[in-house]
Amino acid sequence: MKKAIVVGGGISGLAAAYVLRTKAREAGVELDLTVLEKEERTGGKIWSIKEEGYLCEWGPNGFLDSKPQTLDLCADLGVRESLLRSNDDARKRFIFSNGMLHRLPENGPSFFASKLISWPGKIRLAMEPFAPKPPAGIDETLAAFGRRRLGKEALEKLISPMVSGIFAGDPETMSLKSCFPRIAELESEYGGLVMAMILLARKKQRERAEGKVVSSAAGPGGILTSFREGIQTLTNILEEKLGNGTVVTGRETTGIRAGKSVPYTVRTVAGDLEADLVVVAAPSFAAAGMLREFDPGIAGILDDIPYASMTVACFGYERERLAHDLDGFGYLIPKGEGMSTLGTLWDSSIFEDRAPEGHVLLRSMLGGACFPEYVELSDEEVERRVREDLKTTMGIKVPPSFVRIFRHEKAIPQYTVGHGERLRALGELLKARPGLVLTGNSYRGIGLNDCVAAANRAAEEGVAYLMGR
Ligand SMILES: Cc1cc2nc3c(=O)[nH]c(=O)nc-3n(C[C@H](O)[C@H](O)[C@H](O)COP(=O)(O)OP(=O)(O)OC[C@H]3O[C@@H](n4cnc5c(N)ncnc54)[C@H](O)[C@@H]3O)c2cc1C
Repeated sequence: MKKAIVVGGGISGLAAAYVLRTKAREAGVELDLTVLEKEERTGGKIWSIKEEGYLCEWGPNGFLDSKPQTLDLCADLGVRESLLRSNDDARKRFIFSNGMLHRLPENGPSFFASKLISWPGKIRLAMEPFAPKPPAGIDETLAAFGRRRLGKEALEKLISPMVSGIFAGDPETMSLKSCFPRIAELESEYGGLVMAMILLARKKQRERAEGKVVSSAAGPGGILTSFREGIQTLTNILEEKLGNGTVVTGRETTGIRAGKSVPYTVRTVAGDLEADLVVVAAPSFAAAGMLREFDPGIAGILDDIPYASMTVACFGYERERLAHDLDGFGYLIPKGEGMSTLGTLWDSSIFEDRAPEGHVLLRSMLGGACFPEYVELSDEEVERRVREDLKTTMGIKVPPSFVRIFRHEKAIPQYTVGHGERLRALGELLKARPGLVLTGNSYRGIGLNDCVAAANRAAEEGVAYLMGR
């Protein structure tokens, strides 16, 4: 019997544990598996909170169906049929600029008709195929990439809001290759983004003509997908399938060190546990704390991954008191607009059952890497600022009838310039620690799909190691 411990009960830890057990069974490895979670609940950043008929997502509100990982996991768990797809109208996304909401253009004609980007900005964007090549040997920032390929205005009004919407990040510090590796690949494969779009569209057309199934994903990168009771359904089911006794909540891991009879001893607030395999699925700063004494080199690299904090404000209103049609996904706000919020999602337009009958739910984000000071604001000040922004962006003058404010200290890891090199160095140091595997959103993607993909890789690595012991 091999002992495996997974540290962290967020989506990464729970998915890694679930796949680890499945793959160990398939490989004929007998496994004694434990998941240690610091908090009294599992889910980590995933937390669907139902209050007064509103379903507030504390963290993520879904995953995109354009990648297979989470869909496949749901199929394995037997819940694929219960998935809830976002409403079709939610593909309409907006950017607030120059005093109004602009629908994000989805094609060439709507791009030229849009007032979001000025004519000089559009002409600069149209010159994309002639942009200079990427500087050799440099981990380029998203901002440098944006200025080089698309121009300053597109950087400010398209790229920066997107980076704040996904990473709550600052494009001046984030690495293109680490945040959006596919974009960097497209540039190097096709010589530019417009060229890549044209050639990929032709390829899709060809594949359709050949009768192949081709994704016709709406919105950027797919359809947002969740469950009727919220995205926490996913982690609840994982916990349930892992079974009582496997997942131990309220059990903080305080250290990992070399074991006596087995490779590792995992120190917890309730005593030491022995393990052949340890999968650490806690955030990098927490993993650094656990590994500081055992391997200061690994801990030092993990310490260098910065995090951005965020505040999420859920506002509920009676539908008839709002004049705005709320027809779409919501909007993002470029940094230069001088607003307090990063953007607002129209949660009750995206998914059904997010608000009581006759009511709507809006979810606004504040803080992130560009405005760290906003996460220090009191609840009253958050409410005041969100109301002020909603008045400017959507003309909402009435007070909300429901308010919940959630804080995320160290919400999202920031893949800043040098992240790729840090991962490479980490990989080298981990070679000397067989049976110690790091996974989670701190390394190769923060989306739920990325976390599940990384969990699959961690489980495969873990089982291969156990088979070799
Ligand atoms: C506000 C917000 C909105 C988001 N929206 C989306 C979205 O719509 N779609 C999407 O795909 N992604 C979204 N994301 C990103 C996504 O939610 C996260 O990347 C993902 O949930 C991270 O999962 P994880 O398991 O890697 O980490 P976490 O969820 O952080 O889980 C780590 C777990 O480790 C535990 N832990 C920490 N230290 C210890 C210790 N010492 N001992 C034991 N346990 C420990 C923690 O308590 C936690 O439960 C969003 C993130 C945020 C913050």
